[in-house]
Amino acid sequence: MGVIAKGDLILVSGASGFIASHTAKQLLQQGYRVRGTVRSESKGEYLKGIFKGLGEFEYVLVDDITKDGIFDEAVKGVDGVAHLASPFYTEGVKDPQELIGPAVKGTTGILKSIQKNNPNVKRVVITSSVASIMSLESRRPPVVYTEEDWNQDSISHVEKNGVKSSGGMAYQASKTLAEKALWKFIEDEKPSWDAVAINPPLVLGEVIHQIDSPEKLNTSVAYFWQWATGKRTESDLPGPMGNWVDVKDVAQGHINALSIQEASGQRFITGAGYLTGQAWVDIIHKKFPDLKNVPVGKPGEYEEVEKGMNLFNGEKATKVLGIKYKSLEESTAEMGESLFKRFGKQ
Ligand code: NDP
Repeated sequence: MGVIAKGDLILVSGASGFIASHTAKQLLQQGYRVRGTVRSESKGEYLKGIFKGLGEFEYVLVDDITKDGIFDEAVKGVDGVAHLASPFYTEGVKDPQELIGPAVKGTTGILKSIQKNNPNVKRVVITSSVASIMSLESRRPPVVYTEEDWNQDSISHVEKNGVKSSGGMAYQASKTLAEKALWKFIEDEKPSWDAVAINPPLVLGEVIHQIDSPEKLNTSVAYFWQWATGKRTESDLPGPMGNWVDVKDVAQGHINALSIQEASGQRFITGAGYLTGQAWVDIIHKKFPDLKNVPVGKPGEYEEVEKGMNLFNGEKATKVLGIKYKSLEESTAEMGESLFKRFGKQ
């Protein structure tokens, strides 16, 4: 049990993902060594390219987190682990198990591999979600959920509805079951290392990982693209959306969860506030005035929509992990710039 120190080797699973690529980058920038797991060599080489000159980065192939013992080799010799690999989509879910399987088996699989092959690990941080905290059906907003809360709705929804479950409920159940599996493992196995969960809402911000086309954007960034390219229109405004946080703040949350003693055994909501489509398009117009297809709505008029929708309080992450949240304006500007550079303005 303990915390990581500069120079330590940190395993980052799913390193080719939106949040994990930032986590790996910031670890390198802050003097840690990083081993990332990726599903293909091309994704690993891409990361090597963007991390060149930042520090010691290596990658290992973990093509499917549901395979037994898949992390057995990857965990050898590391000092800390950040587990971010998990499927995140809510559209086109045919069976909740396609999300629940990898979420739960990925989590238990990496924990078992650590337990078996590397008792010297100091700490493990798992990316959970506010999905495992909120209960939008049984404790309806307005409400402020805290780290004491657990999602009471999604597991029973999935048990009741099976393959007819909604994609959103299936994803939320996957995150809830995965985080529960983490804490059960700690309770049952009493490992020599300790664990922390990071629970972000919608994560936005600069995209640095490999993406070939806008269609392949991860779920949270895809929302921005829909507004910025006119796929969401006037009729979608004022557009209540959800709570949000910048990707670099979430990445730093993972690092601080690994390196701050007091974080041990805790879960942390990393949330910067509430987001409406109207607030977002106002910022998009301000930052990118040459975009042609962004709906206008009623600029500045979103306070009423936001009332009672600030569902999560991210103060504990500020207090314990030292996270100071970026503004929506800054996060949106960085996200837009990174995307328009790749895909052009559409
Ligand atoms: P990404 O889709 O960009 O990252 C997911 C990563 O997991 C990718 O590297 C992906 O690999 C990998 N992965 C998924 N399924 C498998 C599998 N079966 N075997 C091996 N690797 C797999 O999404 P995010 O960065 O947004 O999500 C990262 C984590 O953060 C997830 O746990 C997600 O639930 C959580 N989260 C995300 C939020 C958000 O708004 N983005 C909010 C709250 C939590 P590949 O790149 O090859 O597809």
